[in-house]
Amino acid sequence: MQNVPLLINGEFVTSESQQFIDVTNPINNQSIAKAPCATDREINLAVVSAKEAFLTWREVPVSERARVMMRYQQLLKDHHDELATILSGETGKTFADAKGDVWRGIEVVEQAMNVPAMMMGETAENVARGIDTYSYIQPLGVCLGITPFNFPAMIPLWMFPMAIACGNTFILKPSEQDPLTPNRLAELFMEAGAPKGVLSVIHGGKEQVNKLLNDPDIRAVSFVGSVPVGQHVYKTATDNMKRAQCFAGAKNHSVIMPDSNKERVLNNLVGASVGAAGQRCMAISVAVFVGETHHWIDELAELLKDVKPGLWDDESAGYGPLISPQAKAKVLSMIQQGKNEGATCLLDGSDFTLLGYEEGNWVGPTMFSDVTEEMEIYKQEIFGPVLCCVHVDTLEEAIALVNRNPYGNGTSIFTASGAAARKYQHEIEVGQVGINVPIPVPLPFFSFTGWKNSFYGDLHAYGKQAIRFYSETKTITARWVEDDIASGPNMTISLK
Ligand code: NAD
Repeated sequence: MQNVPLLINGEFVTSESQQFIDVTNPINNQSIAKAPCATDREINLAVVSAKEAFLTWREVPVSERARVMMRYQQLLKDHHDELATILSGETGKTFADAKGDVWRGIEVVEQAMNVPAMMMGETAENVARGIDTYSYIQPLGVCLGITPFNFPAMIPLWMFPMAIACGNTFILKPSEQDPLTPNRLAELFMEAGAPKGVLSVIHGGKEQVNKLLNDPDIRAVSFVGSVPVGQHVYKTATDNMKRAQCFAGAKNHSVIMPDSNKERVLNNLVGASVGAAGQRCMAISVAVFVGETHHWIDELAELLKDVKPGLWDDESAGYGPLISPQAKAKVLSMIQQGKNEGATCLLDGSDFTLLGYEEGNWVGPTMFSDVTEEMEIYKQEIFGPVLCCVHVDTLEEAIALVNRNPYGNGTSIFTASGAAARKYQHEIEVGQVGINVPIPVPLPFFSFTGWKNSFYGDLHAYGKQAIRFYSETKTITARWVEDDIASGPNMTISLK
């Protein structure tokens, strides 16, 4: 069985570790590889080589760094199907969905190609007599990325291409549940011409993360994952004086107005709620039916009933299995909890199984109506194919409900009214808003701007904010004159 290599100092090496985590195929939970828990010595080697590589990589002209990204995006496109096949094999995602995962990452690499223009500073002439001020954007040093299981291509690609294009070096600690896709991404990055030590890949779990978070040579940490781990990573990184951006869990609401197009809304809700088995941080997990639209709920349940989970290469499959037996057990217990709490279970996917793959982590589409704010199925992130339906009378009530929720990753409103949409986008306390668009994940020339408990930090992923996150600004005030003005000492702080 494949022992997933580490990438240290430009070499893919077999870990000396005796501790491994099983990587399984979620369709049957059979082992497909072993992810090593990198040793302290290996982690130190990765940090030392990344620190050393920074000294030369930061001197490489920005246009040459951009050219590495140009070659990389082409290689990713050439290997798009192969990457999606690896990704499906370790996540169970359908091939179409796996291709989407890779594609949304490629888009970030395309954006990283623009780094020369994005790293330009500012200038002002004659800020005082004979004095000019200008600023440079300079890289930080060694940066760290810790990524979750649910987008093993897109999320690593949110991080290391932008950081490295800025002139930093990067250590990636991917999810131990699906490390094969990130390793293939790293191989292709080396093939694109990245010098040794610029990207390292360390495998393992929380011990490896904690060791890295406590390393004084790491300057900045990007994290994507669950709320408790995100809070821990943010606190530890900032306690250790590192810059940190931590993207965490979510509970995303979609508000359905009576003037919206029923057929379009219901079709959108089906894909946005149970697509990828609900394992998306931007999945719609709560549908808020306003006014008379609650009459549409039964029809939505009928549509969801037609979605069948299946194998990655079955084109009729709506989505695949959950990532692990633990994830499935958690989702099943939440479904049971919803029933105990008195929500109406209109569709129950708890008993779904796929013939011939009974050992897999399958859960069928599930839908509750009459869900209230006090219920655990409303409060907790379920991260499964489960949609909660809530009914309110007015748009104002819908806005108040969404704003009371502690998460703020994404939301959407379906309406034909510009005034309702304008009110919603203005008043809603959520960082990414879709108007007649169910899952509003911004393209990488914008940033991924989750709010509240869905994000800890200041500067978000990709776009201009990523350049700021992965760099320092140096501001220079300079006087160059033929004959200096002889004026005696300046005892004030004014520029003279
Ligand atoms: P997770 O928090 O369990 O793991 C994320 C990473 O942290 C992994 O690399 C893991 O090895 C590491 N880790 C786990 N426990 C740790 C600990 N105690 N100490 C230190 N490191 C630890 O998350 P997951 O289950 O892989 O991913 C699903 C979660 O990610 C969901 O909550 C989802 O909403 C969230 N997510 C958020 C976004 C976003 O942009 N906001 C995007 C994708 C996923």
